Formats: sequence, structure tokens, C-alpha cells
Amino acid sequence: YTQAKALVYSKYGEPGDVLSLHTFSISPSLPSSTLLLRTLATPINPADVNQIQGVYPSKPPFTSLLGTPSPSAVGGNEGCFEVVSVSPSITSVAKGDWVIMRSTGFGTWRTHALAGESEVLKVNKDGLTPTQVGTVSVNPCTAYRMLKDFEPLVEGDWVIQNGANSGVGRAAIQLAKQWGIKTINVIRDRSDATATEDMKKELLELGATKVVTEMELMDRGFSEQVRGWTNGGREKVKLGLNCVGGKPTSALVKCLSQAGHLVTYGGMSKQPLQLPTAALIFKDIKFSGFWVSRWSDANPVEKKRTVDEILEMTRLGMFKDVPVQELRWDWGTEESVLKEAIQGTLGGFRAGKGVFIY
Ligand code: NDP
Repeated sequence: YTQAKALVYSKYGEPGDVLSLHTFSISPSLPSSTLLLRTLATPINPADVNQIQGVYPSKPPFTSLLGTPSPSAVGGNEGCFEVVSVSPSITSVAKGDWVIMRSTGFGTWRTHALAGESEVLKVNKDGLTPTQVGTVSVNPCTAYRMLKDFEPLVEGDWVIQNGANSGVGRAAIQLAKQWGIKTINVIRDRSDATATEDMKKELLELGATKVVTEMELMDRGFSEQVRGWTNGGREKVKLGLNCVGGKPTSALVKCLSQAGHLVTYGGMSKQPLQLPTAALIFKDIKFSGFWVSRWSDANPVEKKRTVDEILEMTRLGMFKDVPVQELRWDWGTEESVLKEAIQGTLGGFRAGKGVFIY
């Protein structure tokens, strides 16, 4: 028997209150079409916390599969796993391969897992770290699809985005740069000017064309500045990516060119979006939303292709990891330490995304 642990919850609430570390065992005789996986790396994404709070639209069912005192779900949605063994009929993956989950909702914060053959996507692990593979399917895929699927962007076009230092934002900066698309990147002002300058520098080095703070964006003269950057408006700001919502997003919309498109994918400020009426009527600005879970489920083939392409860029050194705070999850790691790592996720101004390394 394989001894395993998982972070489970049986009711919704704050992760620190409702998560518990549950020990279970996995039988060596695998059901047909099943793989035994050992977890290598699983990130803590903002949506994982929202899911545990019960405020996220996709809610994994509470089940008794792991033998918890009350039916439970396992936290986490993304990760990199190593195949330990496979049931005899399986030929698509073999012992030692690395896989990710095809869909979100699997419950990835666990040391081991049993998964169906159809639930996993095999990746080429050559030259990659578990963290790189374990964080590819949510943030980079989201940035990639938003840049490709809403407006036909050509070299020299501009994109404007807020939350530019987020996982998605950093991916968008790098992909846009590679595709010859210029970016205006909005970050929040840091507590001191040096920290703000450091963040600007970091994103410029990643490939950002311009980096500004929310305060600079909200400044009255900002549209004029954008006109200057875009050759008097001859270069078009065709796409906006909205991670944050709230008032600053209205200012961001004002920077879009005629018939531009704002794609909302996050609501980090928890503030509603106010859309300027004139933008809809006179500027014909379009507003859309994007959800990578919906996209992945509807486009499984394209999902695999997108993941493979991003991992190839990573392998070639053309796509850099986001800053992470790795936390080692060993057999002896205490529940409180794991929960603490999760609780801070929505805090803001963080040094890096939390990633469990097993
Ligand atoms: P990260 O954890 O990498 O980054 C979080 C970002 O949010 C940082 O830029 C941070 O800026 C900003 N932020 C945190 N708190 C606030 C606040 N109160 N007001 C404004 N900004 C804030 O996040 P991800 O890239 O993983 O996710 C970012 C957002 O995108 C989340 O809302 C997530 O749910 C969503 N998302 C949506 C997807 C979809 O398919 N729709 C897919 C992937 C992510 P700072 O450093 O200044 O705190």
C-alpha cells in the first residue's frame, strides 16, 4: 500500500479554518485504465482559495473516496505529477512519465493520486522543472489564449493590461514580446518608490514595452502620453486585459483605440467594473470575459498544443518562470505550515506565487 496525504475540506470557508491534512492509503492493485501518480509540484493560485471559500463557480463534489470522516474535496487545481505505475491496459503513458491534469477541479494538493488515463495529459519533461510543468496550464495558457483569440493582433499593435506583475500578466508580457506586440503594463504602486521602480525594471527586463503605476494610469494626462507612444494613435491599442476591475479599469478602457476590446479574466480588487457609456456607444469598444477552465474543456486538442508550445519556449529559455515561493511538503510537514502557505495567497504585494514541492 502507498501511504498518502491530501489537503481536504468538507465545508466552505477560509482555508486556514476548513482545510485539514488527511492521511490515506492507496491499494497496489490499480483499477483498470488507472494510473498511480506521485505529486512533484502544485501551485497555489488565487482561484484555489476562492474555490475553498465557496465563491468560485466550479465546485468539486464532496466525496468519500479518500475515507475522510465527512465527504470532502481535495484543494488545488493544477500540478505536475510523475507516473509511478499504470494498470496493464494502459499504453499512452508509462512509469516515469510526467503528466498534468487535462481539466481543472481534480484536487491536486496531495502527495499521491489515482487518476484515470483520460484525465491526464502527458508532457515532454526534458529540460524542465516540476514547477515549470506544474504552473503551465492555468496562467500561461490564459495569457496565450487571450492574446490570440479575441482580436487579430499583428506586429506593432499594442496591448494594455493591469495586474501586469501577476502570473498571467508576466506570461502576457513575454508572449507579446515574442510575437512583436507592444505592451503597456499597469502595476499597483508599491509602499516605497524604490520598490515600484524595481518592479518596473523587472517587467521591462521581461519584455514589457512600458510599465506604469495605477496612479500614473489615472492621471489626466495619461491618454496623451499613450498617443505619444503610439505614434499619435496610428499604432492601435487593440486589446486590454483586465485582472483587477474597479475604477482603474475605467481609466484603462480610455486608452483603447476605436473598436478595441477589453477582456476581463480576474477580479483581484473585488470591485465591480464600471464601463464608460461613451466607450460602448461612440468608440465601439467590446467587452468580453475569458475563463481558461471553460476554454480547456471545449478545446482539448488546442489545449495540449498550447501547453506543448509554451513548454517548448520554456525549454529554449524563451519563457521565464514567475517568481515563486517554494514550500517543501514532506511526509512530516505539519498541517499548519501547509495551511499558512495557502492563507496568504490573496494578500497582495507578494514576493512570489506559492508552490508546494513534494
Ligand atoms: P498571482 O497570484 O500571480 O498575482 C496576483 C496579482 O493580483 C498581482 O498582480 C497582484 O498585484 C494583484 N493583486 C492582488 N491583490 C490585489 C488587489 N486587492 N487589488 C488589485 N490587484 C491585486 O495571480 P494569477 O496570475 O494566478 O491570477 C491573477 C488573477 O487572474 C486572479 O484573479 C485569478 O483568479 C485570475 N485568473 C483567471 C483565469 C481565467 O481563466 N479567467 C486564469 C488564471 C488566473 P500586487 O503585487 O500589486 O499585489
